[in-house]
Amino acid sequence: MPLVTNNAPTPPTHPGMLMMISGPSGVGKSTLIQKLHGKFDFVFSVSATTRARTEHEVDGVDYQFIDEATFQKWIAEDRFLEHALVFDRYYYGTPKEPVEAQLAQGRIVVLDIDVQGARQVRSHCPDAFGVFILPPSEDILYHRLVSRGRDAPEVIEKRFAHARSEIALAKSESLYDALIVNDVLDRAAEELDALLTNRLNEVARGDH
Ligand code: 5GP
Repeated sequence: MPLVTNNAPTPPTHPGMLMMISGPSGVGKSTLIQKLHGKFDFVFSVSATTRARTEHEVDGVDYQFIDEATFQKWIAEDRFLEHALVFDRYYYGTPKEPVEAQLAQGRIVVLDIDVQGARQVRSHCPDAFGVFILPPSEDILYHRLVSRGRDAPEVIEKRFAHARSEIALAKSESLYDALIVNDVLDRAAEELDALLTNRLNEVARGDH
């Protein structure tokens, strides 16, 4: 039995880390992260969005699905770490409060955000670790978007056009620490594993 008991939370054993992961829809970002989930202490930030929930998604787990008036209210109340209008149509944003709480607990908080969001995070958290996941080729990405059967043809065209411009931006700006090609899942996961391990060692040494 401990000699002293109190209800104070256990202090984190290592500093938390903000990790941004970006890349086109259908590139396999979540599968890649899931592969490393057992090894790293990831926690996913649940974004808010004004887009409609698909039948495979759960409110509060995949996203917080909110209407546009609520989204605008949250912007006015400064509740977002970053937010963006994606595909010129829907708002997506990262609620600030849970991210800050999880970082304080020493967790690795993963933000799946687009390039616009990554720019905003980078401007106020220069030490965030950012990776952009690339498809092996644009043709392959197009076929992945079609074959997952999730979207109507015009949505696929929009997602594909958005993907092409994001890839061009990610390559031309030095916004990300690394660009990883998701050609073979195991190989891409190993590359991400090595980059993350290295980064966490740097964080532990106080380099970031
Ligand atoms: P989807 O509709 O396929 O779930 O997501 C579409 C795009 O929105 C993806 O590129 C994804 O990274 C981005 N996204 C999802 N959540 C956020 C967010 O909170 N902020 C920003 N800026 N982008 C997001």
